[in-house]
Amino acid sequence: MAEQEGVIKFTYEFEKRVNVSEVSWEMQIWRDLFVGYALIGQVPDRYGGFGFGNLSCRVGEAFSITASQTGGLKCLSALDYALVHDWSLVRNHLSATGDKEPSSESLTHAAIYDSCPSVRFVFHVHSPLIWHARQALGLPETSAEIPYGTVLMAQTLKSLARDIGPDGIIAMAGHEDGIIAWSTTAMGAGSLIFSALHQQSV
Ligand SMILES: [Zn+2]
Repeated sequence: MAEQEGVIKFTYEFEKRVNVSEVSWEMQIWRDLFVGYALIGQVPDRYGGFGFGNLSCRVGEAFSITASQTGGLKCLSALDYALVHDWSLVRNHLSATGDKEPSSESLTHAAIYDSCPSVRFVFHVHSPLIWHARQALGLPETSAEIPYGTVLMAQTLKSLARDIGPDGIIAMAGHEDGIIAWSTTAMGAGSLIFSALHQQSV
């Protein structure tokens, strides 16, 4: 199924308000690493030139997530994160505040937070190397029939993540190169991605 990276498919309420205090230094550090390995970015010959990859962390009852179409920015500031305050997978709806709108994959992140209360970080990257080796690596995966950013993707991920537990990594077969990892710590989620990247190359 054809898909267009970066298009918001859920309905949302958005209030333009900067959430300065909610920016996590751990997100900044891990984002730098992912950008360095081209797991987050924006290049003309990938995904129609749209930015790819996004990170989030839980902040109380909400979660902070990189804003829509920030993949191409080298460094992010507080203006480049949105705070998602509440959401409904069933209604395909969320409400957020920030200087910029939240990532188009926010509902996918919300599904993982819904799956387990102890999950604190969700990292979504695009890795052709991991994605093509997903079966050899034994990664759980969502069906090729399920495109990114849909209610079905969110519900499928929630149920898969609930089965896997508070640390996990999944390949999204219906979202080219899409990998999502989560954990109780940033190190946990980041390590799952880099460990998969290392394993496919040995
Ligand atoms: Zn993606």
